[in-house]
Amino acid sequence: MKTAVYQKIGGGELKIEYDENAPCIICGEPVIEASMGGTAICPWCDCGNCRYCGVQLPFVFGDQEKTKQKVREHMKWHKEHPASAEDK
Ligand SMILES: [Zn+2]
Ligand SMILES: [Zn+2]
Repeated sequence: MKTAVYQKIGGGELKIEYDENAPCIICGEPVIEASMGGTAICPWCDCGNCRYCGVQLPFVFGDQEKTKQKVREHMKWHKEHPASAEDK
């Protein structure tokens, strides 16, 4: 477990405990670090970039289900082509 610390508007801190191995709600990979978007979404999805190759993730604006589907397809591709993650 890790603890994320968020600065509260008007002062003070908000501490949230989270499981760094819990799957991200978008890509399904472990979140590793809490993002500004919260502890359920990984910092990479929060920025919209792939954690493995750094390309922009295929986000579908306004459609989280489609976004999830497309991003997970991309993650699956990395698992099937581990060596390709090296050359960007
Ligand atoms: Zn993610
Ligand atoms: Zn990638």
